[in-house]
Amino acid sequence: MQHDANCIFCRIVRGEIPSRKAYEDDDVLVFHDIQPVAPVHLLLIPKAHVATLYDATPQHAGVLGKIMTLAGQLARENGAGDGFRLIVNTGRVGRQEVMHVHVHVVGGGEPFGPMIVRKGP
Ligand code: 5GP
Ligand code: ZN
Repeated sequence: MQHDANCIFCRIVRGEIPSRKAYEDDDVLVFHDIQPVAPVHLLLIPKAHVATLYDATPQHAGVLGKIMTLAGQLARENGAGDGFRLIVNTGRVGRQEVMHVHVHVVGGGEPFGPMIVRKGP
């Protein structure tokens, strides 16, 4: 499986960095974010290293589709059965910090504000 020795999330996949796991199968790992921004904050990642959504190709469709179909189930199982938001920060403008594709599932509290704060007039 494709991995990058210096990538934090690849190291989590390999068990070199501990994480609080919520789900695992052959090609997907789900764990709790270390700095949650909501009562429920999960990270859903492909086990294979893909740096950003810019790097995703049709060969990643299966695993990325699986992540989407797991989101609702995992949100519900972890206390966000009342709605949640998926976030995939990408690149500089998206303020992606970890360069291994990950889908944030955030929820479990009060409704969020607008998706992106609008700039003033
Ligand atoms: P990004 O800004 O790239 O979309 O989000 C990266 C996320 O990874 C952040 O929410 C951050 O808290 C989380 N994170 C960074 N390092 C670790 C780690 O070692 N363990 C866990 N569980 N989460 C991490
Ligand atoms: Zn990686």
